[in-house]
Amino acid sequence: MKVESGDFVMPGDFLSVSEEFLPGPGAYEDDGSVKSGVPGNVFVDNGEKEISVISKSGGPNLLKVGDIVYGEVKDVRGQRALISVYAKKGTDRQLALPYMAAIHISQVTPGYIDKLTDAFRIGDLIEAKVVKIMGDNLDLNTEDITSGVVKAMCTRCRAFMEPRTESEVYCPVCNRKEKRKVSKNYDY
Ligand SMILES: [Zn+2]
Repeated sequence: MKVESGDFVMPGDFLSVSEEFLPGPGAYEDDGSVKSGVPGNVFVDNGEKEISVISKSGGPNLLKVGDIVYGEVKDVRGQRALISVYAKKGTDRQLALPYMAAIHISQVTPGYIDKLTDAFRIGDLIEAKVVKIMGDNLDLNTEDITSGVVKAMCTRCRAFMEPRTESEVYCPVCNRKEKRKVSKNYDY
């Protein structure tokens, strides 16, 4: 099966194996395949070896550097937190790609932090700025006062925590205090 320019595709539809084509706007790479991220018409660029999908509804909702996004912390490992990005701030439109992101420990606060678990824990919801884009992989930064954790759950009892300071949250159920990089937009 091979798609051609003009073919109509839906999100998740197979476009090519990734050895043959790179994902352009509206497309993404998934485990050796190039797939469509949006409903729209295929554009095959044989010169650049790139397949794009052009959406009819105003173009794919792709992120750009400087955008503010919301995501969930999936893992905190050594120097990097891994984030599943689920929305762009200021729009209800679904993102064109299933973006995954990383925050390096040097990008968390303007100051120094000892360890990344002093800023983020698995399951936290965060607000962050996009600083680099490589296809559907992003680097995020949370140094701004409005960036950081906007919702945290207590690691002991899973209750939602309340902000105390810009670096501490508090559990109203079990009285536990934990460290976080707290956003000014913390939601409680
Ligand atoms: Zn608790």
